[in-house]
Amino acid sequence: MIEQAEIFALMNRNRTEFVKSSGRPAIGWLSIYTPEEILYAAGLVPFRITGEFAQNTSEAGSMICSNFCSYLLHSLSEGIEGIYDFADGIVIVDECDWRKRLYETWKKQLNPPFTYYLELPKMITPESKAYFRLQLKKWVAALESHYHIQITNEALHRSISLHNETRTLLQRLYKLRQSDCSPVTGMEALQIMKAATAGRKEEFNLELARFLDDREARNEPPTKRHRVLVCGSYFDQPELVEIIEQTGAQIVCEDTSIGIKYAEGSIEETEDPLTAIADYYLEKATCARMFDSDIRLNHLLDLIETYEADSVIYFTLKFCDIYLMDYPYVMNRLQQRGISVLFIEGEQQMSNIQSIKTRVQTFLETRMF
Ligand code: SF4
Repeated sequence: MIEQAEIFALMNRNRTEFVKSSGRPAIGWLSIYTPEEILYAAGLVPFRITGEFAQNTSEAGSMICSNFCSYLLHSLSEGIEGIYDFADGIVIVDECDWRKRLYETWKKQLNPPFTYYLELPKMITPESKAYFRLQLKKWVAALESHYHIQITNEALHRSISLHNETRTLLQRLYKLRQSDCSPVTGMEALQIMKAATAGRKEEFNLELARFLDDREARNEPPTKRHRVLVCGSYFDQPELVEIIEQTGAQIVCEDTSIGIKYAEGSIEETEDPLTAIADYYLEKATCARMFDSDIRLNHLLDLIETYEADSVIYFTLKFCDIYLMDYPYVMNRLQQRGISVLFIEGEQQMSNIQSIKTRVQTFLETRMF
């Protein structure tokens, strides 16, 4: 019998097969600012492109630039290698300049049947929310015209409700991790968070509900372990998670896009679904691409307190300007409060894992013993 947690790892290992077997047209996305609700309401399967299956990035590097955010470089390589040929296309949200380049290259070089670039404001004001709603409306119109369908308010309401259910379940997962003896490891959490974006929300919700029922029923005696919070840019680094947890420390929260950022809040189930979707995504101001570092910092401080984190690991992918620029500010403010931070700069597939291992072990062991 497959261990409950292994089901999520399997969903990820067979990610493309899992998406394909739905039998519905699929659209890939890369940013957590992509309203999956709209794609789902259009009868499509929205799935996150992870970049993890790419074999070789040299062709992608020659098309865009080798000194490129490696998450995007690996994602483009997957596209070039034909991994997403089964899908109808991609939607790319205007989150950083690299993504603009990726959109142009993907459209020109791979030219799938449907590509869309969704504009996203950087400020959170009534005007920017109204503007974003307008962009969503244009995107809905493009989908309707491409697929010869109508995306009704009823379909949007059903989709919002399904995605809110996923958020509620994921929030239960994070709640469990607040306990003194979290029954969920960092590796399990990473697999679950990735599986949440593998496109099949109904199946995922069922599996996660079963997993949570089982873990909530466990009554393990509290054992105090050093609690680590990971924050920063795109973080899909199982080797690093393993290194951290092998020291005896435990990752209790990830303030990243494959982490709590994906699961926070919920969309109001009000009369006008597009307004509710626009408001929800714009208020998700925890990504470094949004203005106002203090909103992000205060949010991080709240998480450190809620999860009783003893130390913080700030991870950023090389060439991710927005998270690199944010780091000195975050580090100063955390250190002023006596919170120790380790900065790690890495790549999607890390070549310098041994040196990172030494730094992580030194950082954690000097704080644990
Ligand atoms: S990790 Fe940074 S550079 Fe890469 S896509 Fe995300 S925001 Fe852009």
